[in-house]
Amino acid sequence: MANKLMKHSKNVNGKWYCTSSADENGEGCIACGVCYGSLPNIFAEDENGEAYVICQPDGQGEISLAEEQMNACPVNAIGNNG
Ligand code: SF4
Repeated sequence: MANKLMKHSKNVNGKWYCTSSADENGEGCIACGVCYGSLPNIFAEDENGEAYVICQPDGQGEISLAEEQMNACPVNAIGNNG
């Protein structure tokens, strides 16, 4: 599970978040581009290519899509317990 104490500063408030690359536990975003490349209405990239949540998923359809990205993230940098 992503570390909710290491959220990216640009995440919008809510359950869903991405973690900062500064996470010392190795679960920070590595800027792979998967989540915002696949679901750009929920995830966005900052100036360093790191991901943050730009809009909280709304409804079961969007939540399912966000869950797909959470499972696809190679470093567990997406969480939904924020
Ligand atoms: S899938 Fe994970 S590592 Fe890749 S950009 Fe998104 S949060 Fe970062």
